[in-house]
Amino acid sequence: MNRRDFLRTATAAALTVIGGKVAWRGYQDAQAPNILDYLDRQLTPAAAAQTTAEKISHYGKLSEGDIFWSVMWPYMYAVGRAEGTVGNSLGIDPYKVIYTYNQFDNFSDHPRRAHPILDENGQPTGKVSDASGWPQFISTTWDKTVADNPFWYDGPAFGPANQDLGFLYLHRDTGAHVALMAGIQVEPLTQRLSVSYEAFIQAISLDSQEWASLPGANIGAETGQNTRPKWWLWTQFQWALWRQMGYRRRILHPIGADKVLTSEMGYQAWRDGIHWGQDFSCTEGTAILAPEAGSVTLTGYEPNGGYYLSFAPTAQPELAVIFRHCQGKSIVAEGAPVEVGKPIGRTGNSGASTTAPHAHIEVTVDGQHIDPHYYLGMSQWF
Ligand SMILES: [Zn+2]
Repeated sequence: MNRRDFLRTATAAALTVIGGKVAWRGYQDAQAPNILDYLDRQLTPAAAAQTTAEKISHYGKLSEGDIFWSVMWPYMYAVGRAEGTVGNSLGIDPYKVIYTYNQFDNFSDHPRRAHPILDENGQPTGKVSDASGWPQFISTTWDKTVADNPFWYDGPAFGPANQDLGFLYLHRDTGAHVALMAGIQVEPLTQRLSVSYEAFIQAISLDSQEWASLPGANIGAETGQNTRPKWWLWTQFQWALWRQMGYRRRILHPIGADKVLTSEMGYQAWRDGIHWGQDFSCTEGTAILAPEAGSVTLTGYEPNGGYYLSFAPTAQPELAVIFRHCQGKSIVAEGAPVEVGKPIGRTGNSGASTTAPHAHIEVTVDGQHIDPHYYLGMSQWF
């Protein structure tokens, strides 16, 4: 199998993984060589190519195409989720969404159908938008992108493949692509791929010049479009990356899946701030079990959160599961390897910011919070 065939196979396989359940329409296999031509000739900026090439020559396993798509599909998924097109509640194919939650069916050209922009109360603002497709291209942006770039796929001009390509061109032009690719890390032995939060957020911030749902430039203020919080985007990206890379694994709920969830992660008005984890009601002294093989990396006490412990899985060491309001410090030594199901602590009611016994569980990746839901439910997501 030569490099081209391998890349095509790997790319098609990667696209198959992300296809289906999240309603992405993957490329046809026959189009894959065009993707590779595009990768080779059009997209990869010199800086990113050099970074990737160094990794390839050093590790020799993950191909350039693997790395590119393994990061780009999750990134596009996160942006599509933020735009509200991917995974929209009406079940409309993301490639056919026209602002706001209408549908178009003819891919031969940008639909150029303007709809009234509504404010947060659903009332017309007097302005209109013709944003279309999963990246919500307005026609002027789309026309400029078409004019600026000579290479496009055969087939419908505004079809799925060209919407993706148009996104990638814009994402390149904002500078986000170079920023994102620079944040990729590949473990030498396991070939595990991860992306730094700093690089991800820098890319999101640069892309916010084009996509109003992304935090940064806040171009959506004019249209009343809210930006998504960074932690929410980081969560979406991680979930899609785990899925794309096949990082699914069986997770034991550390305090038992029968416990009642009493508080979700996210902004809470009464706190006037973000609740950075999930709360589960449980009696004091409930065993905290290792959700998978790993180790307790840190345990201690602080006034608000009380006794805490931080657990890192062996399979994903950049991820941390943090428990607060515990009954005491961890009952295992910091750094000692523990098997799945081994008790590592007990729940309690310690610290100032608790009113009743409960387990507060946070999850971070690269030190930045994600919604714990996605980790604790990992076994059932795929
Ligand atoms: Zn809490």
